[in-house]
Amino acid sequence: MTHFPVMKIEPLRIPFSIPAPSGPLPRFVSAYIISTPGSLTLIDAGVVGSEEIIFSHLQRSGRRPEEISSLILTHAHPDHIGAAKAVREATGCTIAAHGADRAWIEDTDRQDRERPVPGFYQLVGGPVTVDRILEDGDTIEMGEGLILEVIHTPGHSPGSISLLLLPDMALFSGDAIPVPGDLPIYDDPVASLNSIERLMAIDGITSLFSSWDEPKEGEEVYWAMDDGYARIQEVHEVVKGVLADRPGIDPAELTCMVVKEIGLPAELANPMVTRSLLAHVRALQKA
Ligand SMILES: [Zn+2]
Repeated sequence: MTHFPVMKIEPLRIPFSIPAPSGPLPRFVSAYIISTPGSLTLIDAGVVGSEEIIFSHLQRSGRRPEEISSLILTHAHPDHIGAAKAVREATGCTIAAHGADRAWIEDTDRQDRERPVPGFYQLVGGPVTVDRILEDGDTIEMGEGLILEVIHTPGHSPGSISLLLLPDMALFSGDAIPVPGDLPIYDDPVASLNSIERLMAIDGITSLFSSWDEPKEGEEVYWAMDDGYARIQEVHEVVKGVLADRPGIDPAELTCMVVKEIGLPAELANPMVTRSLLAHVRALQKA
């Protein structure tokens, strides 16, 4: 139950696809609008063109796009920043993100070079300047007594953040919590596990709004965290097992074997998954 009946959290499910050799890979991402009578806050901007989904949703609920006063990016990836440029141009909103992902938001060519996602510029409309750098523990005042508390949850990316809406105790987790049955995508599995542990330790979260999953409420919030945590551990054990049998295996073959072992269709063996698996390999070498 929401403490402030005037506040609404509106999920926007945004479909998109990533080019793949076997044909376009359908994905979706959720962006969220937190609306109060006085302001609209957008959490993540979806892919290029998503402003149309966001703005037409607002118009249907009798609000104007220009009422979006701030856009908070949970991290720099294409499906979160894709429409940021168009949203800023249409609304003049301020943009906030963690400092560790700033360079990839402000220099999208650099992100494309350093983390190649197939069809990057079919997903991203261009770079934007980050007006407010967020750090762990920062609070964002939203009026009506509502506050968003910033929790730095690195692992998926170095500057991934989660946002806890107070006093309602609703958590926006971006891509910090993996979904079993979906691609494992993170830069640092150990940091991801630590971040999920941190979220699990917060008592009384009433609802979970992830970018990758349907909204969860009550006990399901913590079950989703348990499942995400277990998924990273599962991938870790599978990578460990494959390396024990085949120490010199090349990254593409490792990806095919792990994808099969964790029950994903073979066409999901792509460079983004390889990136995650190589992060597991580095963690194993360090251990
Ligand atoms: Zn992401």
